[in-house]
Amino acid sequence: MITMSRSVASRASAIVLGLAFGSVALSGSGPAAIAPDAHGIDLDGMDRSVLPGDNFFAYANGTWLKTTEIPSDRSTYGIGPMLAELTNQRTAALIKEAAGRRAASGSETRKIGDYYSSYMDEATIEGKGVKPLQPALDSIAGVLDRQALARTLGGTLRADVDVLNNTNLYTGNLFGLWVAQDLDDPSKYSPFLLQGGLGMPDREYYLDPSPRMTDIRAKYQVHIAAVLRLAHVPDAEAKAARIFDLEHRIAETHWSRADSEDVVKGNNHWTRQDFETRAPGLDWPAFFAAAGLEKQSVFVVWQPSAVAGTSALVAGQPLETWKDYLGFRAIEHASTFLPKAFVDESFAFYGQVLTGTPKIRDRWKRAVDATNVALGEAVGKLYARRYFPPAEKARAEAMVRNLLTAFGRRIDRLDWMAPETKARAKAKLATLKVGVGYPDRWRDYSGLEVIRGDALGNAGRADLFEYRRNLRKLGQPIDRTEWVMTPQTVNAVNLPVMNALNFPAAILQPPYFDSRRTAAMNYGATGATIGHEISHSFDDQGALFDATGKLDNWWTKEDFGHFQSSSGELVRQYDGYSPFPDLSVNGKQTLSENIADVAGLAAAYDACKLSLGGKSAPVVQGLSGDQQFFLSFTQSWRQKIREPEMRKRILTDSHSPAEYRGDTVRNLDAWYAAFGVKPGEKLYLAPADRVHVW
Ligand SMILES: [Zn+2]
Repeated sequence: MITMSRSVASRASAIVLGLAFGSVALSGSGPAAIAPDAHGIDLDGMDRSVLPGDNFFAYANGTWLKTTEIPSDRSTYGIGPMLAELTNQRTAALIKEAAGRRAASGSETRKIGDYYSSYMDEATIEGKGVKPLQPALDSIAGVLDRQALARTLGGTLRADVDVLNNTNLYTGNLFGLWVAQDLDDPSKYSPFLLQGGLGMPDREYYLDPSPRMTDIRAKYQVHIAAVLRLAHVPDAEAKAARIFDLEHRIAETHWSRADSEDVVKGNNHWTRQDFETRAPGLDWPAFFAAAGLEKQSVFVVWQPSAVAGTSALVAGQPLETWKDYLGFRAIEHASTFLPKAFVDESFAFYGQVLTGTPKIRDRWKRAVDATNVALGEAVGKLYARRYFPPAEKARAEAMVRNLLTAFGRRIDRLDWMAPETKARAKAKLATLKVGVGYPDRWRDYSGLEVIRGDALGNAGRADLFEYRRNLRKLGQPIDRTEWVMTPQTVNAVNLPVMNALNFPAAILQPPYFDSRRTAAMNYGATGATIGHEISHSFDDQGALFDATGKLDNWWTKEDFGHFQSSSGELVRQYDGYSPFPDLSVNGKQTLSENIADVAGLAAAYDACKLSLGGKSAPVVQGLSGDQQFFLSFTQSWRQKIREPEMRKRILTDSHSPAEYRGDTVRNLDAWYAAFGVKPGEKLYLAPADRVHVW
């Protein structure tokens, strides 16, 4: 995918993207405007004192970088976040319209309005205090033995992780569930069980001995105690120490991010009996019964040693510690729907300490996010109807067709690939289901109850509604029309197992996708995004799934060997990028995304030529077609990022930082010609060192 989406609790990592350009007016921390007359390359934002071959990112974006400030409620800034703000404003207006209309009880419009209004009703939330949370806390207090503990833990299981689509490997619950097409048998859905249970984003936050991480750990423990005190839990400091210690023990069992992204390592089918013999400790029958999974006989256990280690801790650690931990997690999970003191404490740690963001986002923006999480496609239906007319859908579909053709021709031209592998690659390309704008069929929200004035209850019911929707898939045929992103998301995604792509309406808008810009500029931005997503079907992970989505490496040994040696060069290229003296990009962790960037840009370049039908691109703003294409691409990645956020992403994100994504151009021969890049310049790669994966 291009960026990562935000999950229910505000702490999940929302990842980058900055696609596009145009001159951009910033006004303090308010939503930035994109100048309405900006439809070309942002010449004013460039820095022509820098040699393109030394630092292309600075050449394309230097003045913008020097003159732009990150708004105080954000950890990153660039055109991606600006477009997200614009889309958020539009979505908010649609939601407020829905709230004002007092539509028929039970209708989607009414649910949207009531959900948003309940979140915005701070007076009611303050008045209730922690009361809405009391039933959950009482139920935890009533846990008297290990079986009841297992039932309580099972009751927290939600469909809140995703291994291959939105790539969200984090859940604060003990385990996370992902229901998806089975990797061995593409005809059916399977439940995937993932590690979880940590309050901080990744095991490294608990185990890394560096002074920075040690400092974050100390602050986290202070945060736990502060949350307990707010909820009037006695003995907060001692409990915080025990809760932290338990999380630390869980972290020790966890797999690293890189291991968790390895689908071959993760694809472990366990029967119910396997849980008893391979992961003893937790009362599994009680856990699964409480999770509504008592009839499920086979699971995919993604990180077996972590599940086993955590299960042993459930049996081995004191019951009281588990109850304290569960109480804390329940409060923490609910904090954004509780009174202001809880919201502020949560932001102080998750916003300020973990991402370096000084100021919390306006409440209406958080209310829009929460409504999008709970009723995403219902809101998306309103958004697409207003902002994505059929003509734009048709224009985007034409661009997709050119990209698919260009990709097919690149496969034909590969001199190292065996004919049988080429045939299977072409078959995969032919069956790729490309969704543009919005899904063919919308989700049904009739079973979701939304009660005006019950913000926390609404969030809990929405989580449970989504969980049950996923459980219902088990035993049903695969639905390849299902989307995993809402139309109002500024992002795009490849669903490798479903062999499908989603390009939401909100990423297909100016300045990314602008009918008033030249083809070269549009292909440099949106074309490269489309190419990026298509090429995920053929990257190091995509090579593992055949046209039906089965985990079956369809390459010959020689083909895969060639591919891996090109991959090795790319790993070295990205390992060489160091934003801080003590931290470098992890070329292996980011490999799939880097391959997609290189291959996507190359395919977009070809597709652009294809769209011109043999004519040469017009010179615009004094720039040749190729110059427009490459500048458009690298301006699309312009981004400023705060230091803690950059560190967090390097540790937990499968994407490289935006600056290095903008440097992808150094692998294309045409870039050298377009900007006269010579040996000795910092980004110069000898022809043999340029990576041509596809
Ligand atoms: Zn991607």
